[in-house]
Amino acid sequence: MKILDKFEETMQRISKMTEKERMKTTEDNKALCICPDCPTYNECAKKNGEVYYCVLGRSSICITEEVGCICPACPITENMGLANMYFCINGTEREQRGTK
Ligand code: SF4
Ligand code: SF4
Repeated sequence: MKILDKFEETMQRISKMTEKERMKTTEDNKALCICPDCPTYNECAKKNGEVYYCVLGRSSICITEEVGCICPACPITENMGLANMYFCINGTEREQRGTK
């Protein structure tokens, strides 16, 4: 049997949620995201209300330059078992793991 790491377990748990539970989890996690405090985050991203790039995906057009990433200090990194960073530029944890 394949041993799942924390991120894979989290994704499995989320996939079993109802749509309503999933939406609630997304909103809760968006509130915990510390991207707005990051030096890479900018006015454009703020205007678009962008956060939670690790799951929702990279910044549409706002963020293109790496100026430091504080994802490792975010509670979501620990909660979800994330291993990557710079999600606003490089895409979701799943994409960076090459599993999507
Ligand atoms: S890990 Fe990074 S992108 Fe994900 S919620 Fe935290 S600060 Fe935002
Ligand atoms: S994903 Fe990382 S680099 Fe991008 S804004 Fe969030 S904390 Fe900063």
